[in-house]
Order: sequence, then structure tokens, then C-alpha cells
Amino acid sequence: MGVTTVDIAIVGGGLVGASLGCALAPLIERHGLRVAVIEAAPLAAQSGSDPLADYQPSFDVRASAISLGSRWHFEALGAWAELVREATAIETIHVSERGRLGATRLTAQEMGVEALGYVMPNAWMGRVLHARLGEQALDWQCPARVESIAPQPEGHRLALSNGETLEAGLTVLADGGRSGLKERLGIASRTTPYEQSALIATLEVGRPHRGVAFERFAPDGPLALLPLQGNRMELIWTHEKGREQATLALDDAAFLARLQAAFGERVGRFRRVGARHVYPLSLVTARETARPGLAVLGNAAHSLHPVAGQGFNLALRGVMDLVTTLESGLAEGHKPGDMALMQTFEARRERDRHNVIRFSDGLIRLFGLDHPLLSHARAAGLVGLNLAGPLRRTLARRAMGIER
Ligand SMILES: Cc1cc2nc3c(=O)[nH]c(=O)nc-3n(C[C@H](O)[C@H](O)[C@H](O)COP(=O)(O)OP(=O)(O)OC[C@H]3O[C@@H](n4cnc5c(N)ncnc54)[C@H](O)[C@@H]3O)c2cc1C
Repeated sequence: MGVTTVDIAIVGGGLVGASLGCALAPLIERHGLRVAVIEAAPLAAQSGSDPLADYQPSFDVRASAISLGSRWHFEALGAWAELVREATAIETIHVSERGRLGATRLTAQEMGVEALGYVMPNAWMGRVLHARLGEQALDWQCPARVESIAPQPEGHRLALSNGETLEAGLTVLADGGRSGLKERLGIASRTTPYEQSALIATLEVGRPHRGVAFERFAPDGPLALLPLQGNRMELIWTHEKGREQATLALDDAAFLARLQAAFGERVGRFRRVGARHVYPLSLVTARETARPGLAVLGNAAHSLHPVAGQGFNLALRGVMDLVTTLESGLAEGHKPGDMALMQTFEARRERDRHNVIRFSDGLIRLFGLDHPLLSHARAAGLVGLNLAGPLRRTLARRAMGIER
């Protein structure tokens, strides 16, 4: 098979790669960019361009908290009108700490916004984005795996599992960071294990959640409940490494009883739990995220603790910044992978990335550690947040993804 030359190759068609593919639509149209998206996992069958046509909402779906800032980005991509059909608005964020008095409530009303954020099934987001990709003039290679990547004088050469070879001026690694491609290019990562695992499941709750997202901090790690459509909520329950196995092994009734004891009755009795999934947690950051002909996005660039709900939101801002950089660069006659453009992109991203990583890592360390000296600081932190208006607003604005 021959070699196909493209301007941009996106490795990975997950939430981040697919968002980038959609965001590139105007540039494909205006500048005739040749774009390929390569996704290793076969997609569930989807008939036609209506993503809802054969969508089966599942009790077991994983969902993500999408910030208000991300909603604006999805609006810019023209995808929000579809996405909102399965979204649940977060009207209040309730932050508390086990064994301490005091809770912090952040409300959409006091912030003067319609919602603080939204909770969206990942499968639904994927469907909507993939349906849009299918309508675009790009080369959608799925299922196909990028087996190897090699630098060329201008860009990179990619060998695909289906026998094809691509030469791309700009390669965007959006592969989630587990394929080894980054390492093959000599890009190392900094890994800080949290010594924790997140147990994820969908719950049915006894009382209406009224759009409240709960974050509860406990000595063994934080627990979050996010509102879903109907009387369902998404549970993200952090455990000290190793301890999640005992919780996993419980039958449903015993699991719900243990959760009830840890969380209390704020949403009534927990009635049902779906499939439980466990994710080991670490902070992983790539030491380099841009070079001539290469950009690293999403989990490949940064994998954060999920409790602050920031990973995808941060990644989507990276997607939008990359597209803005490319847009102005192309207008000035640059090629997509030019060093000057990649430097501009990195300069745009650095501060936001640094701030969000520091914010979510700090949140875990401040509330998640069990140390006698920290307990007062934690309580003061919560009460302090309640008292100190500007600080509380900053916290809310960052959670909403509209403060960098
Ligand atoms: C438990 C948990 C809860 C979370 N909750 C939130 C939340 O509430 N809000 C939020 O903002 N973020 C959240 N996150 C983070 C969010 O899930 C990630 O930021 C997001 O999924 C990253 O998407 P991605 O596309 O970069 O990576 P992935 O989702 O891993 O996608 C990578 C894609 O690349 C493909 N691929 C891999 N290797 C190759 C290859 N060699 N060739 C071709 N394709 C390849 C894979 O098949 C995959 O489809 C959470 C994370 C976890 C673990």
C-alpha cells in the first residue's frame, strides 16, 4: 500500500480526538486541510446521522461533569443542541467533610448562571461527536491502530494496523497516553500515584437530587455524587489503594449499606447500584506537549484525579486553543506543524494546565490526607470558603471552567 499525505493526523478518536476532529471542520472547509482521525476501538453500530436514533440509555453508563465553559465550546462546535438532550444541569455544588461541621454550597443562582455545569453520559458524548465526524470531509480510520510513529524532516510517518501509512505535517496524540507512542518519541511523563482508586457506579436514589452535585471529603479519600437524568446519580468513590477490593466484593445490598453509612441520607436511601468499575488514580503529566509537527492532548498530556471533574474540561480548552492557533497560523501562511505555531500553542496552554493541575491536586491533598494537624486546616478551609466570598467565587469559576 502507498503512503497518504495529510496535513493533520489525530491519533485516537476518544472524547478529545473526536472533539478536535469536529472543531477542525471550519478549517477543513476554508483551507482544504486534509485531516485523518485514527481510532483503534471499533465503534458500536450507529445508523444514520441522528445519534439518538438507536441510543439505548444504560443504567451502567459512565458520565462526566462538563463545565459551563465546555458547554460554550460545544456550542461553538454546533454540537450542544444534540448533547443537551442527555445532559443534567448541576444547579448546586455541595462540599462537605465527614466528621466536621460546615458545608459549602455553590449555587448557579448566586453565580448568575443557568447551571454550574452539566453531567453527561460519556457514551452519549461519543455518539454525538462521532456522528458529526461522519458528516465531515475527513479520513476516518476506524478500527485502525497506529502501530508506530517516526519523525520525518517535516512531520511524522505513522504506520497503521490496517497496512496503511500516513505522513502528517502535524500529528496530534490524543490516544489517552497508554499506547506507548509518546514514549517512542522520547517524551517521558511525570507520575505521582495518589495511592487511591476510584470506584465508579450508577445509583438509583430515593429522593430527587434537584440538580445537586455532592463532593464529600473523608480521611480515606473523597466521594462525589453527580446528578443524572431521572432519579439516578453517578458515584465516584475514592478508596485507599487496595481497600476498594473489599467494597467491590460486597453484594449489592451490603454495598449500598456501606455507601449509605459513608454518605448519609442527603438523597434519601440508595436503592440500586449498577456495574462497578475501578480506576487506579495518579497524576500523570507529559514532560513535553508540543514540538514541531506534534501536539499532545487530553489524557496523553495530563491525567488528573477525577474528583474535581476537570480532566476532560481542561482537554477541551486545549482542543479549542489548538484550533485557534492553527486558524491564525494558516491565515499567515504557516503550515499546521510549524515550530512557531506549536510554540504559540504551548504558550497558550501552559498557564491554564498548570493552574488546573495545581488546583485539583491541591484539593485532593488539602482534603484527602489523614493527618492530625490537617484536620483543623480542612475544617477552616471549608468554613473559610463559606465566609470568603471572592475565594469561593474563584473556586466556583474554576469548577465551571471559566477562570484560568
Ligand atoms: C473515573 C473517572 C472519572 C472522570 N470524570 C471526569 C469528569 O467528571 N469531568 C471531566 O472533565 N473529566 C473526567 N475524567 C477525565 C476524562 O475521562 C478524561 O479526561 C477523558 O476521557 C480523556 O479523553 P481522551 O480522549 O484524552 O482519552 P481516552 O478516552 O483514553 O481516548 C483515547 C482513545 O485513543 C484510542 N487509541 C489509543 N491508542 C491508539 C492507537 N495507537 N491508535 C489509534 N487509537 C488509539 C483509544 O481506543 C481511545 O478511544 C474522569 C476520568 C476518570 C478516570
